[in-house]
Amino acid sequence: MGEMCPDHRELLKMDELLISVLSADEDNKWRVPMLKVVKYWVEKVLSAEEDGKKIIYNQFNTFAELFNAFDLRAVPPEIWTLLKCQAKDGYGMCDSIDVAHEAGIHPELCSAHKSSIGDILRGDQIPPPVALINPSYPCDNTKIAYQVIAEITGAPIYVMDCPYFGPDTDEEAAVEYWVNQFKGLVSFLEEISGKKLDPDRLKEVAEEANRAVEYILEDQEMRKLKPCPTPGLGYQWTIGADSLMGLPEYTECVKMMRDETKERVEKGKTAVPGGKEKLRVNWFYLHAAYDMNVTDWLEAEKGASSPVTFTSYATFEPIDTSSTESIIRGMARRMLTYPMGRQGTGSSDIYIQDCIDTVRGWGCDCVILSGHAGCKYLRGAFGLFRDELRKIGVPLLVFDCDTFDPRVAPVEEFRPKIEEFVDMVIASKERADE
Ligand code: SF4
Repeated sequence: MGEMCPDHRELLKMDELLISVLSADEDNKWRVPMLKVVKYWVEKVLSAEEDGKKIIYNQFNTFAELFNAFDLRAVPPEIWTLLKCQAKDGYGMCDSIDVAHEAGIHPELCSAHKSSIGDILRGDQIPPPVALINPSYPCDNTKIAYQVIAEITGAPIYVMDCPYFGPDTDEEAAVEYWVNQFKGLVSFLEEISGKKLDPDRLKEVAEEANRAVEYILEDQEMRKLKPCPTPGLGYQWTIGADSLMGLPEYTECVKMMRDETKERVEKGKTAVPGGKEKLRVNWFYLHAAYDMNVTDWLEAEKGASSPVTFTSYATFEPIDTSSTESIIRGMARRMLTYPMGRQGTGSSDIYIQDCIDTVRGWGCDCVILSGHAGCKYLRGAFGLFRDELRKIGVPLLVFDCDTFDPRVAPVEEFRPKIEEFVDMVIASKERADE
């Protein structure tokens, strides 16, 4: 077998090149912090063996701070594989998805999981783990995929049983139960890493994570300004949160992002050139990861910004670091705030209310949901979703795609739907303003 992770090594080279070019480009340097997160993470994973560090597969939803306190290298395999999505003209995950299909994995499984399983079966795409962590939310896909991954890798798995949350539940009792699950995770990691949790190191990591959280919240707040100051879909803090959270490298990236937004506000720069913002779109779901320049197109061609998205919406807060117990409780609660996980812990009210709150908070004119084939629990709520948005007069577009596999719905198929919808909402806004 050749070198491990050839696709990610290529990605790293491309990433470094982009960082050096874009850092000197006044209008595009807002893209650099996210590229740096990817760079730091990929470097850490590729050097793990040489550095004598163990790899742990933490299902996305599992912030990396606790793993970093144990000096483990956190690799959510779904996120690792999706880093490849834009390679090969957007077909970067297809080889691994096909390997999973050929091995008998059913096609209805989320393609992020199919691609993770394919990566592992291919043998050179992702380093092997010493253990797997799998919280039981948000969807059935994660529950079954992690059992498959545990079977293939032979690594022990710790499953965290998430209680039901939502209106009419005893939230305090649920949180108590959840905190105990988290304490079980600490014991499991002590066993896997062969060392006891060091309270001083835990505090250090928690304080570092708190600094990052402050920057993320500050940036999120500035995107409420009209017109929106920074282009793109908002900072995708999630990728770094479940790989680097609690490390100074991550704090550096989110601070850079906050500083960039602040500078743009001070200089009067806006997502839509010249501040001519006609529309504010809320993408309250995943969008096709092979079509991430959709926002460049909307900003330049339609005057539409995207101030908030499902994966940039942060509902967490800094945690109390006054004792080991308070840190553990804070980290356990924070785990319930990860986008998609948060909305998949129980009642669909959480998802719908979050969407309404973000529409109001960020002054959005409409909502777009790109209906990823795998997310049955969210798709089942789309009818309720539409009813609630209708009540507050917010237009909604839903279209089908597979977030990670362009063969299901190529860009040419859904871009016209987005265009027609956006044109219609802009026209209706202009009529209302007359
Ligand atoms: S919630 Fe949807 S996108 Fe997220 S892991 Fe499950 S199926 Fe995949």
